[in-house]
Amino acid sequence: TKTRQILSDGEFARTLERLAFEILERHDQSRRLALVGIQRRGVELADRLRRLLENRLGQEVPLGKLDINLYRDDWTTMESQPRISRTDIPFPVDDSQIILVDDVLYTGRTIRAALEAILDFGRPSRVELLVLVDRGHRELPIHADYVGKRLDTSKRERIDVLIQERDERDAVVLTEE
Ligand code: 5GP
Ligand code: MG
Repeated sequence: TKTRQILSDGEFARTLERLAFEILERHDQSRRLALVGIQRRGVELADRLRRLLENRLGQEVPLGKLDINLYRDDWTTMESQPRISRTDIPFPVDDSQIILVDDVLYTGRTIRAALEAILDFGRPSRVELLVLVDRGHRELPIHADYVGKRLDTSKRERIDVLIQERDERDAVVLTEE
C-alpha cells in the first residue's frame, strides 16, 4: 500500500476557513442559513464550519444531523443503496437555506438519499452541498457547490479523512491498496 498526504493539519484548517468565506459570500442574507452534516465525519466538519460562520456572523447557525446506515458509512463495504437511518433536524426546514456537509463525495448516492430525507421535513428555499473532498466517479447528476479539494482517484484508492474531534489530528490521506 502507498499513502500520500493530501492535506496537512494546517492546510485542513485553512481549507475550512476558505469554505466558510465562500459560504458567507453567497449568503449575505444569512437569516435562514442552516447546516446539515452527514454522519460521521460530515457532522464534525459541519460543526467546525458552524463555529467559523457564527464568529463571522455573530448569530447562531443551527446544525442538523443525518445518519446514513452503517454499511454505507464504512464505505469499504458500501451498499449500493444508502439509506438514512436517523435524522436530527432541530430547525424549521421550510424556507431555510441548507448547506449539506459531507467528508467525501463519490457516486452521489448518499447525497441523493440525504436530500430525500431533508425534503420529508419541509420545503427549504435552497439546498447546497459542501464536501471536503470530491473524488470523482459520480453515478448521479449531483455536484458540490463548495469543494475543499478535488482529487482524481482510481476506484482502488481510498481517502482517509482524519478529524481532530475523532482522530486526534486533522489530515486527509490518500491510500492505494
Ligand atoms: P457516495 O454515496 O457519493 O458514493 O459516497 C459518499 C459517502 O461515502 C460519504 O458519506 C463518504 O463518507 C463515503 N465515502 C465514499 N468514498 C470515500 C472515501 O474514499 N473515503 C471516505 N473517508 N469516505 C468515502
Ligand atoms: Mg460518510
